[in-house]
Amino acid sequence: MTNLYSYYLQVLFLSFIIIDHLTEIYLHRRQLKNFKENQHTPPPEFAHTITLEDHQKAIAYGTSKLQFSIAHLVFDMVLMLYWFPMRGAEKLFSLIPWSGIHHDVMFICAFSLIQILLNLPWSAFSTFYLEEKFGFNKSTPQLFILDRIKGLTLGALIGIPLLYAVIALYNSLGTWWWVVSFLLMIGFQFFLFWIYPTLIAPLFNKFSPLESVELKNGIEKLVEQAGFSAKEIFMMDASRRSSHGNAYFTGFGKNKRVVFFDTLLKQLGHAEILAILAHELGHMKLKHIPKSLALSIIGIFISFWLMGKLSTEAWFFNGHFFRQSSPGILILLFTQAIPLYTFWFSPLSSWISRKREFEADAYAAKETNPIYLIQGLLKLYQQNASPVVSDKVYSTFYHSHPPAFERIKRLESFKSETREGLS
Ligand SMILES: [Zn+2]
Repeated sequence: MTNLYSYYLQVLFLSFIIIDHLTEIYLHRRQLKNFKENQHTPPPEFAHTITLEDHQKAIAYGTSKLQFSIAHLVFDMVLMLYWFPMRGAEKLFSLIPWSGIHHDVMFICAFSLIQILLNLPWSAFSTFYLEEKFGFNKSTPQLFILDRIKGLTLGALIGIPLLYAVIALYNSLGTWWWVVSFLLMIGFQFFLFWIYPTLIAPLFNKFSPLESVELKNGIEKLVEQAGFSAKEIFMMDASRRSSHGNAYFTGFGKNKRVVFFDTLLKQLGHAEILAILAHELGHMKLKHIPKSLALSIIGIFISFWLMGKLSTEAWFFNGHFFRQSSPGILILLFTQAIPLYTFWFSPLSSWISRKREFEADAYAAKETNPIYLIQGLLKLYQQNASPVVSDKVYSTFYHSHPPAFERIKRLESFKSETREGLS
C-alpha cells in the first residue's frame, strides 16, 4: 500500500514541479504580450500624466525583467527536477559525513549554501547588468559581496540554532514535538519582527529621523491622529544601492516605524510626502501588521501540524524521492517541496494584500487631499519605471499592490466625494 501511495505522490509531485513552473512562464508571457500591445502609447487615462518617454522606458524595463525572470524559472525548474526526481538531494544527504542531529543540520546548511551559490550569478546579473542598463544600479561589487556575506552570517546565526532546537525537539519529544516546535517558531517570529527595525535593518542601511521644519507640523498632526509618534518616522539611505524609490512600515509596539527611502523623498513635494506618510500610517492604524502576523501563525500552525502527521509516514518521504526519513529531510521538504503545492494560493494572499493597499489609500484620502497621493504615486511609478498597464491574470497572481489604473481611479472617486462634501 505504502508503495502505491509513494508512486502516486511521486507522479503528483513531478507534475507540480512542471505545471507550476510552466504556469508561471505562461503568466509571464501574458504580461509580456500585454506590454507589447501597450508599448506605443500610455493608456488614455494616463495620457496627461505620463509622458510617452517614461511609458516606453517602463515597458522596456518591465519587458527585460520578465525575460530575465522566465530564464530564471527555467533554471529553477531544472534544478528542482535535479534535486528531487533525479534524487540530487538524496545524494547530498548521503554525502554528509556527520551523524545524528549534526547530520540533519549540516544537510540543510549544505543544501541552502548550494542554492545561494547557484543563485548568486543571477542576482549579480540582475544588479550589474539589468538594473545598470536602465540606470537604477548604485551598488558596487564590494557592497554587493559585503551584503551577501552579512546576509549569510545573519542567516547562519539565526537559522542554525533554530534548526538544532527543532531537530532536538523532534528527537526527544516523540508525537508532540511539533506542538512545542510550533510554539518556539511563533515566539521566534515575534522576536524577529521585534528586532528587525532596530537591530537587523540598520546592519544594511542608515536610518535617520525625517526632519524638516516645514514638514514638522504636518507630520505631527498626521501621526497624532494615527496614535503614532513623530520619532518613529525615518529616512533610509536606499540610494547606496539603487535609485528605486519606496516607503514602508514595519515592526510593532515600541519598535514600529515608517521608513521613507531617501530616493523617494528627493522626488516628492511636501504635500505628497505627507500623503504617502498618511498611507503608511493607515496600514498601522488599520492593524495590518498584527493581522499579517495572525495569518502567518495560522500558516505555521498548519505546517507544523502536517509535519507532525507526516514525519512518520514512509510514503510521504518516498513520494518526494527520499528512500529514508529524517527530521532534516522533513524540514527540507516543507521549505522546498510544499511551496509548490501552496503556490496555487498566491492569488488569495495577493488579493488580501491589494485589499489592504486600498484600505490604506482610503485612510490617506480621508486624512489628506487624495490629489497629493495620486501625484505622489505617479512620481513613484515614474521613478521606478513601473508600467501602469498589466495583464489581469498576471496581476491576480503576483501583484501585492493594486494596478496603477485601479488605484488612481479609486482615489479619484474620493477626490469627487471630498469636493461634494465641501460644496
Ligand atoms: Zn501600502
